[in-house]
Amino acid sequence: MSLSNAPINHPFWWDDAGLQQASIALPFSDFPDTIETLVVGAGYSGLSAALTLAKAGRDVVVIDAKSIGYGCSSRNGGQIGPSFHKLGVKGLTTAFGEKTAHNILHESMKSLDFLQSRIQNEGIECDLQSEIGRFKGASRAHHYGETARANEDLAKAVGLEFEMIPKEKKSAGIGSNFYHGGAIYPQDGLLQPAKYVLGLAGRCAQEGVKIFAPAPVHAIRRDGNTFTAHIENRTITAKQILIATNGYSGPELPFYHHRIMPLRSAIIATQPLDKALVASLFPNGRPVVDTSRLVLYYRPSPDGTRIIFGGRAFDLSDRPDKYAPDLHRLMTRIFPALQNVEISHAWSGTVAYTFDHSPHIGQNDGLFYTMGYCGSGVGRATYYGHKAALKMLGHKGGKTALDGLEFPNKALYSGTPWFLPAVLRWNSFMDRLGR
Ligand SMILES: Cc1cc2nc3c(=O)[nH]c(=O)nc-3n(C[C@H](O)[C@H](O)[C@H](O)COP(=O)(O)OP(=O)(O)OC[C@H]3O[C@@H](n4cnc5c(N)ncnc54)[C@H](O)[C@@H]3O)c2cc1C
Repeated sequence: MSLSNAPINHPFWWDDAGLQQASIALPFSDFPDTIETLVVGAGYSGLSAALTLAKAGRDVVVIDAKSIGYGCSSRNGGQIGPSFHKLGVKGLTTAFGEKTAHNILHESMKSLDFLQSRIQNEGIECDLQSEIGRFKGASRAHHYGETARANEDLAKAVGLEFEMIPKEKKSAGIGSNFYHGGAIYPQDGLLQPAKYVLGLAGRCAQEGVKIFAPAPVHAIRRDGNTFTAHIENRTITAKQILIATNGYSGPELPFYHHRIMPLRSAIIATQPLDKALVASLFPNGRPVVDTSRLVLYYRPSPDGTRIIFGGRAFDLSDRPDKYAPDLHRLMTRIFPALQNVEISHAWSGTVAYTFDHSPHIGQNDGLFYTMGYCGSGVGRATYYGHKAALKMLGHKGGKTALDGLEFPNKALYSGTPWFLPAVLRWNSFMDRLGR
């Protein structure tokens, strides 16, 4: 495996989208002193919120510490689906009671619909492939039955559509002998993540939203009914602020920094391959996830010439020298035909894990926030960003099933998940043992 002259930590999506930030992001010298509504974080959450706010007539400024979509929103796998809570129907019911559990599951389904209608209604060109389906491979034999039972629970609770594919029929799901069968979810699909975030930013700009990047916020203070924010070398006043910094929430935002575990997820992209080979590995162009403890997720590129292959990285910092060979090895275990295929891009991002596996939306000390999508947030960030905006507008449509859930932290956790590399290695070991 070699990274053929690839720039380090440079998503394939950026090249594919021809990332043109400059035409949308404004220079910091034009930054106003007083702002009606400030959104911190220019990913799907922040931009979806800004779009809803601007359409309701609000004056909105969005800032990002780095660039538009710099965080997860231009780095992810682009797989879209309902993003169900990790606890499943039974676990959610035990944790929150039947009614809240039902509402949370329903919202997962709604977030996918909302994402697709937002893209279509706003005319965002992002290689959306709705309802091409997704294959979930059973990494161990016993995972097949467990997946079938979990799917049946979801079908009863919220009408999830699925089809179980036994190992003998596996070619319906994936061109590989690796899995013990699996499930196809026909409602799921794909998009090009960087095109989507740039498209959202473009629509925001057309609605009058001002986006400044790079413009890091260093501190926010509450002053009665307004807020003072220190951005770059300026002090500005805002009436309302939304924090949409997700897995990139730093110590400058301590409430969020102490509640979010930034977990590194990494992706490699292959050099262009023969289209017929890629098509033979991904029947109908369907993306794949699996049931491993350290989930693998992969798909063809929108033009069908490359494989985009993702999984967990063990280091807290970005170490493509470690995760790229690791992902290449996993990819060739599943697709031995790719043994000599070269990698053109390797990159990573930090997904926002929470201590209760749930996203959180609400208000703390007057600041609005939405974040914590636990690695599955293309739809949920778009949906909850919109909901956060409705809350800021005082609109009753801003209610969500997550309202009122405590946003938990843990004693002694101060924002650096030093324990994660050990936890991930343990899970990797258990995956190898087949547990
Ligand atoms: C490698 C990877 C693969 C993934 N694959 C999938 C997938 O296939 N499907 C799926 O549904 N989800 C996936 N996800 C998760 C999904 O991408 C995220 O849940 C979603 O993009 C979150 O959007 P967001 O706007 O909340 O956060 P982000 O896009 O992370 O945006 C947060 C922004 O806040 C900015 N920021 C932070 N601090 C400050 C500050 N002090 N001042 C100003 N700005 C600040 C950051 O620069 C960043 O741009 C993946 C994530 C990763 C990393």
